[in-house]
Amino acid sequence: VTRNPGEPEFHQAVREVLDSVGPVLARHPEYADARIVERICEPERQVIFRVPWEDDRGRIRVNRGFRVEFNSALGPYKGGLRFHPSVYLGIVKFLGFEQIFKNALTGLPIGAGKGGADFDPKGRSDREVMRFCQSFMTELHRHIGAQTDVPAGDIGVGSREIGYLFGQYKRITNRYESGVLTGKGLSYGGAQVRAEATGYGAVFFAEEMFAQVGEGLDGKRVVVSGAGNVAIHAIEKVHQLGGTVLTCSDSAGYLLDEKGIDLEVLREVKQRRRGRLADYVREVPHAVAVAGRTPWEVPCDLALPCATQNEIGAAEAAALVAGGCLAVVEGANMPTTPDGVRVLRRAGVRFAPGKAANAGGVTVSALEMRQNASRESWTFAESEQRLRETMRDIHARCWATAQEYGRPGDYVAGANIDGFRRVAEAMLAHGVV
Ligand code: NDP
Repeated sequence: VTRNPGEPEFHQAVREVLDSVGPVLARHPEYADARIVERICEPERQVIFRVPWEDDRGRIRVNRGFRVEFNSALGPYKGGLRFHPSVYLGIVKFLGFEQIFKNALTGLPIGAGKGGADFDPKGRSDREVMRFCQSFMTELHRHIGAQTDVPAGDIGVGSREIGYLFGQYKRITNRYESGVLTGKGLSYGGAQVRAEATGYGAVFFAEEMFAQVGEGLDGKRVVVSGAGNVAIHAIEKVHQLGGTVLTCSDSAGYLLDEKGIDLEVLREVKQRRRGRLADYVREVPHAVAVAGRTPWEVPCDLALPCATQNEIGAAEAAALVAGGCLAVVEGANMPTTPDGVRVLRRAGVRFAPGKAANAGGVTVSALEMRQNASRESWTFAESEQRLRETMRDIHARCWATAQEYGRPGDYVAGANIDGFRRVAEAMLAHGVV
């Protein structure tokens, strides 16, 4: 804490991992001797830079850009870019730290990084977003590359932003280096199922959790938060598997549709018009927009937080328990606070942490890199099948590792321990670097 002052989200993420890995260090004194914990908590490199750009009225604006290259033991740094006014170093570091274990859990050759800017794309024209992305990449390009560091999207960075970032990278470097970014459009090297991957993957993970008790998602009542990339695709997959998603949300409040969220209307409102959830109610009059509240008060079998960090605290967790919730599966990164997790655990609610449950996004990003390298492109069905197998595999490993360490059913311990061991082994092999 004294070494990294004023970064509470980073402290929270580190504490959660360190709480799990004590027994691993006891079994592997060589990790402690090599100071693996101290090294893993220190990013390999952090870049902070100025991003000047001009708005539509000709005014000069200045934002702050970040790229934290956290760990390259398993492969090139890999992790998304977030554009949101709340972004500062502590947020980028928490996300980068989580990414280390998440990427290790996929079993794919990817290291961990994260980046972004305190830019707010809301209310900005396409041209303003383009100029911002161009300025951001004008600095970022020096630090990234297909073999070095491969950014993708996150909050506020979707296919539009990735397109502008890629265009500028190509222009500055004079290299058509497809593998430098993932989440690209299908017209220029993007992969099938990348857009869907995080939301679909979280639902596949939930499916595996329910399969442990002999149940499926068919007929389940599901509450989702967020209305962005992850939320929309989670809703789509739950509906395909026979469940009903009753809610979604944005920063203004949540939307309740007892008949199940109408995805076509949601996509029109949020993705095409970039509007607010209240607009949904105009098209679907039986739905209710609840301003200033979160969806956790709605009774459900399964909760999928897919918006942002720390959206389920102790009070929200207690509301979920009261509403009969059986499982919480994190589509977002760290949406549940440590107090929230404790409340859920005490009530016997099964809990899957984001670093396991939302690893589908980075999984398909790694498959996008593989397709770019071999100049192939796989079909939607083939890519979805690989995603499903990987999520199954991650679930199985978290489950088995938790058992091995005497913590049956504890997905947090399983994910942290398995991810940590993989990275620690590689770091040990590389010597003191
Ligand atoms: P989007 O920008 O597409 O959507 C984010 C959604 O969350 C929006 O509905 C937004 O509402 C809401 N939201 C964001 N910040 C806040 C806030 N502070 N308070 C309330 N609501 C908020 O992002 P994604 O769907 O890509 O990302 C969602 C989460 O999933 C993040 O935690 C991200 O790190 C995680 N994730 C994403 C991956 C991906 O592949 N995209 C991969 C793995 C994890 P509003 O529009 O009102 O701001």
